[in-house]
Amino acid sequence: MHRLRFMATLLLASTTFSAFAQDSAALKAELTTLVDGKAKLTQEIVDSVYSFAEVGFHEYETMRYLTGLLEEAGFSIETGVAGMPTAWIATWSNGEGPAISFNSDVDGLPGLSQMPGVLERMPQVEGAGGHGEGHNAGIAVSVTAAIAVKELMEAEGLTGTLQVWPGIAEEALAAKQWFVAAGAFDDIDVVLSNHVGNGLGTSWGLSNSMSVVSAEYTFSGVSAHGAVSPWVGRSALDAVELMNAGWNFRREHLHPNQRSHYVITNGGLQPNIVPDKASVWYYFRNTSPEAALEMVELADAIAEGAGLMTGTTWERKVLGSGWPSHGNEALAKAMYANIEAVGMPEWSEDDQAYAKAVQETVGAAPIGLRTEIGQLSGPVQQVGSGASDDIGAVMWTVPTVRLSYPGNIAGTTIHNWQAALGSATPIAHKGALTGAKVTALTALDLLLDPSLVEAAKTYFTDVQTKDIQYFPFESETDVPSIHLNPEAESFREAQKEFYYDPSKYDTYLEQLGIEYPQLTKSAE
Ligand SMILES: [Zn+2]
Repeated sequence: MHRLRFMATLLLASTTFSAFAQDSAALKAELTTLVDGKAKLTQEIVDSVYSFAEVGFHEYETMRYLTGLLEEAGFSIETGVAGMPTAWIATWSNGEGPAISFNSDVDGLPGLSQMPGVLERMPQVEGAGGHGEGHNAGIAVSVTAAIAVKELMEAEGLTGTLQVWPGIAEEALAAKQWFVAAGAFDDIDVVLSNHVGNGLGTSWGLSNSMSVVSAEYTFSGVSAHGAVSPWVGRSALDAVELMNAGWNFRREHLHPNQRSHYVITNGGLQPNIVPDKASVWYYFRNTSPEAALEMVELADAIAEGAGLMTGTTWERKVLGSGWPSHGNEALAKAMYANIEAVGMPEWSEDDQAYAKAVQETVGAAPIGLRTEIGQLSGPVQQVGSGASDDIGAVMWTVPTVRLSYPGNIAGTTIHNWQAALGSATPIAHKGALTGAKVTALTALDLLLDPSLVEAAKTYFTDVQTKDIQYFPFESETDVPSIHLNPEAESFREAQKEFYYDPSKYDTYLEQLGIEYPQLTKSAE
């Protein structure tokens, strides 16, 4: 009797399991079809955001366009998050269940306005911003995935909450920490983020990204006529120069792990006025948050010294920051299974020909586009020199994983016009659609399997944050640095002529009259 009941239970369990597996497979197929059905939407988002070419804290057109799409899809929109005018959160819920957040950056870089699909430096609007990293494609991954998952949830009676939000001003590391501070993730279980790359992969644990504090030091002195009565003046510019000299001498005696760089953002007005205001903007990077903070303390001491030497006063404002990236193990492994299932996009001969032409143009090996998926990378043993990202603040607040999807051409340099060349071509369209599939399927895993959400949380609490707790680099008196990139609006009228109009043109390249693939320079 007991044995029979045991057998019956076993039978029931295995039936339930295989029914679940079958259901899961069918739902995944259905979701993949839904995402494929949005290829046109993905392409339009990639091309539109590229054409807006907005830099940090000026992503107004991008916001209008994306929130419009999401509102039409049934999401409710909150704008002005944490007092940042271009920050928004789109939310949709149909009841109890996992709360899944989708994110990607949307901002471009100052001065990198660039015609896509060509083979040379060709600004659309001289001096204006541009997508010299490829941030325009990532938000297409997130929006496409979120809308497709919502449609599946409605069709199949799955319940939960979906959130979509943009990384604004990421290039200044200036906004995600404020989303955290505003409580944007208080009710969120997991964040699925992404970043453009040239392969398809993900990672968990600490990756090679540095902790950073971006801080501006402003000195205040006394203005005076530079020839009539210079002894009355106290030069804030002198203080900036002495601070930089002090830092550069001290740099020799800092551990080589550090990276620091600065620009003078205000050097005074004209030579015959002793500058009563001057500012220098530093990035302090190191391999741990504590080590980055020690650099700030040292810089404060050097600023104090510069102030004493020049009879000026100083203040420091944190303009941005980044914690080291740390991907969630359970989420990364689930995502990687979907990467294996989806595979790389099917590049056409034209895609490969254009990629090789770009690589030859920039002096890189003409290897074309990758055709094999990347690895699932684990934690680095030691964080080395590398870039930083404000996603760190999110990763240390809520279980987060980041997908790297293909949209850039290997061999091009980011923060350079080269990286914009492929960013509004079929390469980015296909890469973003592939990324959307992987992201959507990972969200479905979370909706279908509560134990995956639990595993993500367990890793977060018991491993990632067991000994290290997130603290913001910003102090009580710091506010979001929405004053950055003030010159951006002066280019807007000229940039409007380049906005993509999907109602008239199939693709942005078509609107611009650029043949694809363009295999010779325009001048040749
Ligand atoms: Zn980026």
